[in-house]
Amino acid sequence: MQDYFCIFISYHGNTMAPKKKTPEKKSSVKKQSAAVSKLEDIGSLNRKELSERSRKFSKRFCVGDGDNFQLKKYRTDPDIDLGPEDKPVMKRTLEVGVETLAELQDKMYAQDKWSLLLIFQAMDAAGKDGAIKHVMSGVNPQGCQVTAFKVPSAEEMDHDYLWRCQKNMPERGRIGIFNRSYYEDVLVVRVHEPILKAQKLPEKFVTPDIWKNRFKDIRNYEKYLYRNGTKILKFFLNVSGKEQKKRFIERIDNPEKNWKFSTADAKERTFWEDYMKTYEEMIRFTSTKESPWYVVPADNKSYARIVIVSAIVNAMDELNLAYPKVSKEKLAELRAIRQALIDEK
Ligand code: AMP
Ligand code: MG
Repeated sequence: MQDYFCIFISYHGNTMAPKKKTPEKKSSVKKQSAAVSKLEDIGSLNRKELSERSRKFSKRFCVGDGDNFQLKKYRTDPDIDLGPEDKPVMKRTLEVGVETLAELQDKMYAQDKWSLLLIFQAMDAAGKDGAIKHVMSGVNPQGCQVTAFKVPSAEEMDHDYLWRCQKNMPERGRIGIFNRSYYEDVLVVRVHEPILKAQKLPEKFVTPDIWKNRFKDIRNYEKYLYRNGTKILKFFLNVSGKEQKKRFIERIDNPEKNWKFSTADAKERTFWEDYMKTYEEMIRFTSTKESPWYVVPADNKSYARIVIVSAIVNAMDELNLAYPKVSKEKLAELRAIRQALIDEK
């Protein structure tokens, strides 16, 4: 068994690893040495220990206040060597995360106060769909709603860009998942000028300030949602150009994956540098302590999913979720009904 069990479950390394002071090329970033632990450790951790581990682990990928954010300080690959032999451990680690998430979701649903909005943004083939599928696999579908935002319809184009998102906000007690979101309106719309033109805005608002103004609007909107009980986590699945190329070729070579590939994906790839700059600025202006961005290393799908689940567990832990307390009167009533049921003939 390798000595790499620093993932989620038992990380003891430098928690601030991605925030290096001197800019370094990703390829030259030294891989960290990992702490040794045992797989059995997972089962023996109590709930409090699990919370602490997920807090420490997810913190490394959390941007928090985005003021000085630089994308180049964040890796696209895990900072530990993971091979095929590590798959069972990764699987078990994700399972533990998902079980914990399911337990927290049950409480959130019962408490009916908070809602959680998870936003996923990424370049094509970064693994958004797979992450959503695997991370939410153990969650009660009743407490969860997924919305995928595509190119806006004619009806959506007749409204402001937040309109279609507002309509799909999670109800209290539920988890809402946005597969893309209003952030497309400061990403694809910014990278491709003709798309902005097609938004039919009054000309006086289409100025070079439009992006800063949209960032401000988004910050305010998220602040508003937070104050009304919606906790927002935003995930940027940070895949490398090299890994995207590999996944595109796989999609073309494998008939079962052909449906996932579109010529538009290949075209978007040619705008890679523009997208990276745009993502960087977007994260810098819209990551806040309350509604943070997470930059998830996405070149390894299993690792990315563990990062995501640990961030969700940590955020939910901080909401102090609890089953509603039943009043003394209600308790007495329940006891009386119980007795009546027992006495029934
Ligand atoms: P996918 O998620 O891969 O199925 O693709 C959805 C496509 O819709 C992506 O190419 C997005 O960039 C695009 N899209 C989503 N929102 C917008 C928007 N507001 N304006 C233009 N294109 C969008
Ligand atoms: Mg696509």
